[in-house]
Formats: sequence, structure tokens, C-alpha cells
Amino acid sequence: MAASNPSARSPITALVVHGGAGTIVRTQLTPEREASIRAGLNHALDAGHAVLQAGGSARDAVTAAVVALEDDANFNAGHGAVFNHDGVNELDASIMDGHTLEAGAVAGVRRVKNPIQLARAAMEKSPHVMLVGTGAEGFGQTVPDIAFVDPKFFFTEERWRQLRAAQAEEAAGAVAPPSAHFGTVGAVALDAHGHLAAATSTGGMTNKRWGRVGDSPIIGAGTYATDRCAVSGTGWGEFFIRLNVAADICARVAYRGDGLQAAADEVVMHRLPALGGDGGAIAVDADGNIAMPFNTEGMYRGWVRPDGTRGTAIFGDDAR
Ligand code: ASP
Repeated sequence: MAASNPSARSPITALVVHGGAGTIVRTQLTPEREASIRAGLNHALDAGHAVLQAGGSARDAVTAAVVALEDDANFNAGHGAVFNHDGVNELDASIMDGHTLEAGAVAGVRRVKNPIQLARAAMEKSPHVMLVGTGAEGFGQTVPDIAFVDPKFFFTEERWRQLRAAQAEEAAGAVAPPSAHFGTVGAVALDAHGHLAAATSTGGMTNKRWGRVGDSPIIGAGTYATDRCAVSGTGWGEFFIRLNVAADICARVAYRGDGLQAAADEVVMHRLPALGGDGGAIAVDADGNIAMPFNTEGMYRGWVRPDGTRGTAIFGDDAR
């Protein structure tokens, strides 16, 4: 099949990862913590970029990058997932291949070490797109290479403290702080064949209840990819669902002919806050352009552009 990259004269690749957007208070971010977060982002870039360098697919690259972030307790996904109201970790993830428009998603899984791998298995090995809870785990038991862990694997002191703090605030009558969430992870990639993919993984929002599912596993809201645009979002999931954020960015590129940056900025910097939501997104297009807008204080992010320039950043005034 012909490569979809309109500028496919010589193969180019691009990769962007995020580790969540939200209130990241500069004075509370110790140098050690910042170094650890940047190391985690770089590790994910290494994992995804190695795939792209070897001529591998965008779907393999985003999977590798997100697995690395899920395994890092700095981030709210996989091992470092936040707790729900009942003190349980319920994990959500999704992946989409822009070339084939195949997609897979899982929500509310409690024992799967790397939910992005189960989402990918749902895409490749089931006739469905989205699987939830015990059903998703039952499917996972039929797939070799899906690692199951005791739920205690997801316990970290920091996330437990965050749950206790959120519940104390709730008991004191405070409205749940919308921007206290961050740490969801995601990746978008353009491979040397001109194909795009996006993946997102999260523990959701601290103190969530009633089986709450956010945008991260919703194809269109938290994750979307076409042959022209791939997006992974992070932020207050309810608003991302209501605005269909990831798909809206790609639709603006496809139907309005907007540039990637303009499309992402319009949705993240205008439409989202206008509705009362917050967060950010990472995006890449078929020409290797990247965009990383966020309307919060910070967004953990890292990138490798087609020319090989690479970086990580946290705050708005960091390098882009
Ligand atoms: N979007 C995620 C959710 O609502 C949370 C986050 O990105 O921090 O579940």
C-alpha cells in the first residue's frame, strides 16, 4: 500500500511523549524529582525512538514508549497509578493506528501490569475495540505475554497520601480540585513508512468512584490517529470526552486544512478552558510536525523531531 506521508521523499520519523498535565508547582518540584521525571521521559523516548530507528512501526513505537512510562512510578499509569475512592487502582489505556484506523482500549482493569499491552491485544486479537473490567482481564488471560500482577503491585506511598489528602478535603467540604490531577502518560509517533499512531494510559483521577472512566481509553477523546494526525491527551477527562478532544484536533487538520499547531491550540487553549476543563495534548502529523499545547501550569513532555533534535520539558517557559 502506498505510504500516506505526502512528503515521503526520504523517510522521516518523529516521536512525542507526555507524562501528564496539571498543577506542577515549581517550588515543590525538587531537583531530584525533576531529574527523575526527565530521566523517565528520556527512557520512554529511547524505547520508542529505537523502534523507529530500526524501521519499526508507529504502533510498536508508541507501545514501547508507553510501557516504559507505565513501569515508572513517577507517572499515573501502570505501576504509579492513582487510587480510586475505595483505595483500589483501576487502570485505563487505549491505542490507535492511524494507517489502518484500528483501535483498542481497556478500562477499569486491576491486575494487568501494562494496560497498554492489553489495549493493543484488544486491537489485534479481539473483534472488539473496548473491553472493561473483569471481562477485559478474562480476555487478557487468553493472550500470551500479558503480565498479570497482584493488585498490591500498584501500591505506592505517594499515591496513597494523595488519596488520603483528597478524601480529607472532600470531608472538609471542598469541591474536588480539578487541576490536582496529572501523570497520565501517552505517546504519538510517525514512522519511516509515513504511518502514525497514538497511545494513552492512566490510573485516572484520584478518588474517582462509581466505576468512573475518563477520556484516556475513549477513542476520539483521549486518543486518536489518522494517516495525517495522531493525538494523545491528558487532563480533566470529563471535558476531553465532552469535546472529543483528540478526534477534534485531527478533524480540524483533515477538514479545515488547519496546521497541526493551530488545530491543537484551538482545542486545548480555547475550546477546553471555555468549557471549564483543563489539560494538554501531544500531536504529530504526517510531515513530522509536532505540537504540545497545555493550559495548565505544566505538562511533562519529551520529543524527538525528524531532524533528530530531542528534548524534555515541564513548564510553559521551558524550551519547546
Ligand atoms: N485524563 C485522565 C483522566 O481523566 C487524567 C489525566 O490526564 O491526568 O482519567
